[in-house]
Amino acid sequence: MTGKELEKKLSLKPKNAGIILSDKELNTVDLFCDKYKDFLDFSKTERRSVTYSIKYLKEEGFIEFDPSKKYFAGDKVYLNNRGKSIIAAIIGKEPIEKGVNIIASHIDVPRIDLKPRALYEEAEISYFKTHYYGGIKKYQWTAIPLSLMGVVVKKDGSIVDISIGELDSDPVFCITDLLPHLSKDQMKKTMNEGITGENLNILVGSRPFRDNDIAEKVKLNILKYLFDKYDIIEEDFLSSELEIVPSFKARDIGFDRSIIGGYGQDDRVCAFSSLKAIVEAEEIKTTAVCILADKEEIGSEGNTGLKSATMKYFIADLAKHYNVESRTVLSNSSCLSADVNVCFDPNFKDVTEVKNTAHLNYGVVLTKYVGSRGKSGTSDASAEFVGKIRKILNDNNVIWQTGELGKVDQGGGGTVAAYIANLNVDVVDIGVPILSMHSPFELASKTDIYMAYKAFLSFYNS
Ligand code: MN
Ligand code: MN
Repeated sequence: MTGKELEKKLSLKPKNAGIILSDKELNTVDLFCDKYKDFLDFSKTERRSVTYSIKYLKEEGFIEFDPSKKYFAGDKVYLNNRGKSIIAAIIGKEPIEKGVNIIASHIDVPRIDLKPRALYEEAEISYFKTHYYGGIKKYQWTAIPLSLMGVVVKKDGSIVDISIGELDSDPVFCITDLLPHLSKDQMKKTMNEGITGENLNILVGSRPFRDNDIAEKVKLNILKYLFDKYDIIEEDFLSSELEIVPSFKARDIGFDRSIIGGYGQDDRVCAFSSLKAIVEAEEIKTTAVCILADKEEIGSEGNTGLKSATMKYFIADLAKHYNVESRTVLSNSSCLSADVNVCFDPNFKDVTEVKNTAHLNYGVVLTKYVGSRGKSGTSDASAEFVGKIRKILNDNNVIWQTGELGKVDQGGGGTVAAYIANLNVDVVDIGVPILSMHSPFELASKTDIYMAYKAFLSFYNS
């Protein structure tokens, strides 16, 4: 055997999907990603993601889950958790005590929330006070067009849905930044301090209400507008969830259109591709469960996050009609924690270790462990479970690679994997490599996005 032959047989040589895929396959990738961009544009908040998902699932024959009913092989259900997270499931042919196949992603995205007492006026300009949500670099949110989305619950309990800034005919909002001419002191500050949390005030108007007896004329004019248009008063803001998100739409990036740029691809890229996978899976033997969770970016807390008992109760409600305990089901279950990972960026190569970092176009990234420093805070998947998933990916011609979250001592992070593993489920992280993660405009390769979908489909069909 020559050295070349021996090398081919023994060495691991990851390949660029652009080399491996045919033109026909690349065309399929592009068509898939066109649908994905529509999802990104509609679903900028967790609530809108749930709205999109319910509409899509209903069209595909899923019905609202009823815990008092017994479900049988082929039945398709969904559970809407408070309009902010959702679980979809297809009942498999295998008995439920053999476990379920779970894919869990999240639909909340780093953003800027309004404070309860948000509206104020200063120097005859009106603003919203805000409190950011999740890990953002605050300076990235200045001087870009912003939309306002969410709900206001009025005194009588009725709900007003608000979305301003998404239509071309809508106004948008903005956080101002300082002109370079006068930024001598600001530019000496660290990037963390240049724009502070309390600087993130949203400009919302400047035209006064014409009455000299009024002190805050601009604020009153905004309140009048809100009352005329939505029938809401200032106190209604106290019971609202209003989110500020970038206004721009998802776009193709590059001469070759090989990449998608868009807001909140972490982790709506996995949400969309897993939702597509459960709808399109054809040979469900093991019950398939698709979870789109809320609150991941702030630690999965709350009753719509994955630390809550929602998933456990759902499994229990499915299983009780077969006289099976949820712990029996969970203990035999497998889970893909579907979340994004860092993509090697030649502009910032110092923070990653090139061999163990995901590369653009090298496929879906399987991440055995995340965490910080000495693997702190990760569930660290077992060799056996990684082996099982590796076989599924290889058997189905999924282009995949491995990744880590940065250099060993550089920082780190976590995913929902640890919380699901705590329920005695086998879990591993898998997802799409992202450039500019957590920025208002994140980048992902189209082939990697498609390979995530293919991986999820193979898992449900396994
Ligand atoms: Mn994520
Ligand atoms: Mn994130």
